[in-house]
Amino acid sequence: MKYSHAITGTIGNTPLVRLTSVTEGITATILVKIEYANPGGSSKDRIAERILDAAERDGLLLPGGTIVEATSGNTGVGLALFAQQRGYKTIFVVPDKVSLDKQNTMRAYGAEVISTPTNVEPSDPRSYYSVSDRLARQIPGAFKPNQYDNPNGPASHYATTGPEIWNDTDGGVTHFVAGVGTGGTITGTGRFLKEASDGRVTIIGADPQGSIYSGGPIHGYNVEGVGEDFWPGAFDASLPDDVIMVTDAESFAMTRRLAREEGLLVGGSSGMAVVAALKAAAALTKDDVVVALLPDSGRGYLGKIFNDEWMIDHGYDVAITPEQAELRAR
Ligand code: PMP
Repeated sequence: MKYSHAITGTIGNTPLVRLTSVTEGITATILVKIEYANPGGSSKDRIAERILDAAERDGLLLPGGTIVEATSGNTGVGLALFAQQRGYKTIFVVPDKVSLDKQNTMRAYGAEVISTPTNVEPSDPRSYYSVSDRLARQIPGAFKPNQYDNPNGPASHYATTGPEIWNDTDGGVTHFVAGVGTGGTITGTGRFLKEASDGRVTIIGADPQGSIYSGGPIHGYNVEGVGEDFWPGAFDASLPDDVIMVTDAESFAMTRRLAREEGLLVGGSSGMAVVAALKAAAALTKDDVVVALLPDSGRGYLGKIFNDEWMIDHGYDVAITPEQAELRAR
């Protein structure tokens, strides 16, 4: 009989898929790693087990304890999967720009979710970092994974995501592209690929315009889960060879194209990673193999990126044809 003893046993070994439609004018091979194929729906399933194992080992998390984390949603789901199995309670603090669908997903897995204002400084007592810190201090038996500073985040990508990409491309990958949130994905995966290839693989970060990593002025943006206004400890900023800035408009337009043209219903940070991959690939040749990591599914963004009204209200082009406009007016 072939089965997993629990759903968490199915994390990782996600597929690589070649893009064929959004790649016009590109001769390099563009492959995307489909992280929504993880059971909790995102790349963040990968970090939860290692973070909790370490906390238990170090005595930071005891039986019956409570996991309190600042998350844009995906880390919450990953932690909730393991918390269920191990008997922990979960409280997740999100910035209020996180879609209601994603907040409700965490609730569906049994978590308490607390929403906090997005547009305040990290040091502000109302920020999702401050609120989660305070709860972790006040609640007896609470443990805060602190994914922004926890070395087990990058370590899990070093142990799994990196080797999967290396093995699935038979060592042929030449470029790796990932959005940077906590920096765990690009740091762990990038470090593995650099080491495995003796430094030959080029590592490229993708970053929303307005975030600190791509060096422009810091301001708000709408893509979720990526970019920051501070430098997290989980991100080794010396690793990326380049960080490419992508606007929300570019990210969202590509996210919609991936669903319609490639059959890939993915989130906005996935669209952002593909935009960066294509920008990098414009200067590459047919011998290059670019792998872009797509962190989560588009199901969490049906009310936003895939909703024409939301897009128009926020000033984004939805490319409605005159025929569609006429049909909708009937
Ligand atoms: N995209 C989404 C949707 C995410 O939730 C995250 C995690 N914050 C990322 C990208 C970035 O991953 P990392 O934190 O490993 O940099």
